[in-house]
Formats: sequence, C-alpha cells, structure tokens
Amino acid sequence: MRENRFIDRNNRTINYLRISLTDRCNLRCAYCMPEEGIQCLPHPEILTYEEILRLARLAVRGGIRKVRLTGGEPLVRRGVLEFVRRLGGLEGLEVISLTTNGVLLADFAEDLRACGVSRVNISLDSLDPERYARITRRDAFHRVLEGLREAERVGFKPIKINVVAMRGVNDDEILDFARLSLEKPYHVRFIEFMPVGMENGWTRDRFISTDEIRDRLSRLGPLRPQEHRDMDGPAERFVLEGAKGEIGFIGALSHHFCSQCNRLRLTSAGTLRGCLFSDEEIDVKTPLRSGASDEVLAGLIQRAIETKPAGHGSLLQSPRKCSRPMSTIGG
Ligand code: SAM
Ligand code: SF4
Repeated sequence: MRENRFIDRNNRTINYLRISLTDRCNLRCAYCMPEEGIQCLPHPEILTYEEILRLARLAVRGGIRKVRLTGGEPLVRRGVLEFVRRLGGLEGLEVISLTTNGVLLADFAEDLRACGVSRVNISLDSLDPERYARITRRDAFHRVLEGLREAERVGFKPIKINVVAMRGVNDDEILDFARLSLEKPYHVRFIEFMPVGMENGWTRDRFISTDEIRDRLSRLGPLRPQEHRDMDGPAERFVLEGAKGEIGFIGALSHHFCSQCNRLRLTSAGTLRGCLFSDEEIDVKTPLRSGASDEVLAGLIQRAIETKPAGHGSLLQSPRKCSRPMSTIGG
C-alpha cells in the first residue's frame, strides 16, 4: 500500500498525470488543429525527456499512480520508446497508458508493449475512409486500421476507441461504432465535442450530448451498466447484450464530473494545469532550467494540485474557457 497521496483542497485524491509529449501531429483534425498556419512551439521550448522524467519521478513520489502519454501525437516524437522504457522504471508508477491517433501504431505497438505501456486509446471518428480524411485532413484511415489490428495482435487489452461525436459530421455512425463493441473486445467511448482552443468549429448545433447518444443506442438493446473502478476516469461504462467489448460515454460538457476529477496535466510547453477548462497554469520549465532543487519542483507540483479549480461550471452556458490549443494539452 502506498503512503503518499496528493489531496487537493476539495478533498480529491490526485493520482493521474497526463503528459503531452509534443504539440506536433501528423493529422489535422478539424476540431483540434487549424489546417494551416499552426504555430508550433520552437523545439527548445518543449520539455526534454530528461525534464519530463524528473517531474514525473517527483509526481510519482508524491502520489501519482497512473500516467497517460498524449500530445499532439505522442508517437511522432523521436525517441519515444526509450522515454517510455525509462518512465516504466519509476518505482510506484502502476499504469502507463497512451492516447494516439493510431497512424504510426502498427510500427510501434509491439515495442510500446514491451517497454511497459499497458493500455492504448485510439482516436477514430469515422469508419468511412473518405469521411475520416475530411475530418482529419489526411489520408490515413487504413494506417489506423492496421494500427488497431496490430495493437490487438500484440495483446493490448482493453483497446479503447475514442469517438468525438459531432452532429452532421459523424452522428450517423453512432450505431455502427456501438456495434463494433459487439464483435470486437473494444471499448468504444463516445466523447462530447468540446469548445477547446480559440476556434475549432464548435457550435451548440454540432454538439451532441451523451444522453442523446445513449437514447439513440437503445435501438441496439439494453445497455447494462458496469461498475466504476478506481482508475476508470470519467467514462460511464455499459455493455450491450452478448457484446465482447464495452461502450463508454464521456459527457465532458453535459455531465459534471469535476467532483471526481483525479487529474493533473503537464503541457508540452512545460506548465502544470489543474483543469482542461481553466487557463490557470504553473510554469515548471523556468525553474527546471534555472537549477531548481527537487524540493522546489515538488513544491510546485503540490501547488498545482492545491490550486486545482473546484470545477469548471457549465460549459454549455459559457463555452470558451480554454484558449490553449488541445494539441499542446493533450485532451
Ligand atoms: N493525437 C492523439 C489522438 O488524437 O488521440 C492524442 C492527442 S488528442 C488532443 C487526445 C484526444 O482529444 C483525442 O481522442 C481527440 O479526439 C480528443 N479531442 C481533441 N479535440 C477535441 C475536442 N474539441 N472535443 C473533444 N475531444 C477532442
Ligand atoms: Fe492530432 Fe490528436 Fe489533435 Fe487529431 S486530435 S489533430 S490526431 S492531436
């Protein structure tokens, strides 16, 4: 049993750190990144692996048990496998998971597993190659399917598929995605479209709540609720009769799960962020690079947890609350 725990001022245990390894990406999903004119961080502004590992070690020492690697696209960063291997060596870290668009996963899946990644989430918003190309602005659908198959072959379990549901864009595929969970052991998770970044095409009309998705899924039969486990995160989980996999709903906007939020985020720019929807951040890169001691850095992590906002209020009433692009935070 671990002794150290991070508790914030709202009595939440913070044990989950999401690390954005890079703001670069090989896709240009319309809801996440502009097609052109992206201002990527200059390379020296991105935390080095050494710096991330130092912060991760202090975070794990303080009470973090699970780390998720995200981006941008984490697999486009050079040296990612060696980094994961070293991260996996941190004593006390129980789970390393990865969120990826899957484009490079076929090349990486086996090594990622060998290096200690235990779970992968693959983002896939359409089962139609042409529509996929319209949403992501790249022709990579078949690479993602290869990645998915390879992840399954090398034994990742469960494999989660993240689907951002958007009215008039992919909502006619909701049933098809849910049916995937009948045939495959995938956990298909419907995520509400979020108004993140300055302008990402979010409108109330395009937004679909997870309640509406659930209603639509009733045509496939009853959804049996699954018990919530310690490290599940905010997804509400269900199983269709006879299914090999699961269906999850992440109602980031319509359902407030702030009271159970256990997350801290480290952006690729080197800031700690307590809430996706609050631009309050703590700079850890400057102290890291000006010789701060472990004690000082651990104090900053503690401060980021203590100042974590209690909640983000209704995002449907006042949507634009995060001006940093999603690709630097990682979702
Ligand atoms: N590139 C990787 C990927 O796409 O899986 C990791 C980074 S991406 C920012 C992490 C997750 O955030 C993806 O599942 C993506 O679909 C989701 N995401 C990005 N922008 C979003 C938005 N505006 N609303 C809801 N989800 C979003
Ligand atoms: Fe890239 Fe992921 Fe953003 Fe799509 S959602 S542009 S894959 S970072």
